[in-house]
Amino acid sequence: MTMGTITAAYIAAAILFILSLSGLSNQETSRRGNWYGIIGMTIAIVATVLNPNVDSYGWLILAMLIGGGVGVRFATKVEMTEMPELIAILHSFVGMAAVLVGFASYFDPNLHLSGTAATIHNVEVYLGILIGAVTFTGSVVAYGKLSGKISSTPLMLPARHFLNLAVVIAWVFIGSWFLGAEHGTGTVALICMTILAFLFGIHMVAAIGGADMPVVISMLNSYSGWAAAATGFMLSNDLLIVVGALVGSSGAILSYIMCRAMNRNFVSVIMGGFGTTTGGGGDDDAEQGEAIAILSDEVASLIGDAEEVVIVPGYGMAVANAQHPVSDLTKMLIDRGVNVRFAIHPVAGRMPGHMNVLLAEANVPYDLVLEMDEINDDLPEVDVVIVIGANDIVNPAALENPNSPIAGMPVLEVWNAKTVIVSKRSMATGYAGVENPLFFKENTRMLFGDAKDSVDAIRQALS
Ligand code: NDP
Repeated sequence: MTMGTITAAYIAAAILFILSLSGLSNQETSRRGNWYGIIGMTIAIVATVLNPNVDSYGWLILAMLIGGGVGVRFATKVEMTEMPELIAILHSFVGMAAVLVGFASYFDPNLHLSGTAATIHNVEVYLGILIGAVTFTGSVVAYGKLSGKISSTPLMLPARHFLNLAVVIAWVFIGSWFLGAEHGTGTVALICMTILAFLFGIHMVAAIGGADMPVVISMLNSYSGWAAAATGFMLSNDLLIVVGALVGSSGAILSYIMCRAMNRNFVSVIMGGFGTTTGGGGDDDAEQGEAIAILSDEVASLIGDAEEVVIVPGYGMAVANAQHPVSDLTKMLIDRGVNVRFAIHPVAGRMPGHMNVLLAEANVPYDLVLEMDEINDDLPEVDVVIVIGANDIVNPAALENPNSPIAGMPVLEVWNAKTVIVSKRSMATGYAGVENPLFFKENTRMLFGDAKDSVDAIRQALS
């Protein structure tokens, strides 16, 4: 393939990636967006492999077979509930790739640069490895927190802000040491910076509490994009730079949206420490009173006679794989003349858009699915709200208890409805580890059990 054809292929791939991102921003066009992405990536890989500078085809095919094999195995095996941690671990791969490419590029014996060109290349290497190393360990810790292997309670080291500041200052000094070193002799500086960046990534994500994890996920998504862009600079690959910038900036926009959804300031999230208290403030416990349980056939007669029903899905719906029975229940209710809508909180589940993906998979009509801001004001008029495996996103403590770790986070104000049914297995807390006063409100009834079993039982009772 000539360089001209490769450039044309890269431009076509870049356009397809932009179309893909715009397609993925809306449920109705998301399948098309996925296809644009797949075609764009295929073009990009073929054009890169057929580049006249590529000659080690044996290594390349071996790497593609191993990588492709692992990818196919994971993609077919992964459960929908494990998707968030899969994404976190994939971000770590991008980070590690940037670190390895950075070192390879620094030691490349065929690279003979001098003067400004050498300085620019060294800056690319330094920044690429730094961003890649922070992304790598940060994503591994995020993976651990999302999969429950690491506690979601924030790690509060004494003088942690001072430690972070000291690392940033050290990076500046090591950077000037590295740039001042003769070519090839800056290895020690590079290794020192990389170790600090690995530690910084661990500390940064470990210090962030459960409720703020959505911001971390989107932030690491953004970092992985910038790490890819830095790799593109080191390899002089324009497509990688463009794609990295697209991922980096869309991740940054997503972080902003997540911060707004949680009423958090980006800098304060990154500084960590939210979600320190577990239990949501001691005085709550004394006042809470008793939760009232309800049976599925009672729920069936309540919603069967209702005019307006709102369903609030949360992480538990994903765990129980209850989206299909929920979709069937919706159809049954609509057939009986009940007006059913879904209320989606921006941080419901464990990844941005988690609930939308599940409901789309279960063929719930898009026009029934409303965002929190679109439906919150209508809730006082609603006869029954069914909360299916959600907890933090419907917790009134966010608005009522200034000492709560989730204080200030906008939530779905389901308690304003006439009756609230909460389907979950126990009185356990959600991801943020905060007690939920909703369960003890006068108009709340607890439907205990696995969400799928409960919804199936309601369907049976209704029919
Ligand atoms: P939560 O984690 O607050 O609550 C989920 C509830 O589901 C639990 O209380 C659990 O209670 C219940 N549950 C679990 N399994 C089942 C089951 N099989 N059947 C029925 N219920 C079940 O989820 P929300 O969606 O309300 O809130 C999301 C939380 O996750 C927020 O704190 C958010 O900040 C955080 N987060 C969100 C991310 C995102 O990008 N969306 C990323 C990372 C974190 P029980 O055990 O009693 O059944």
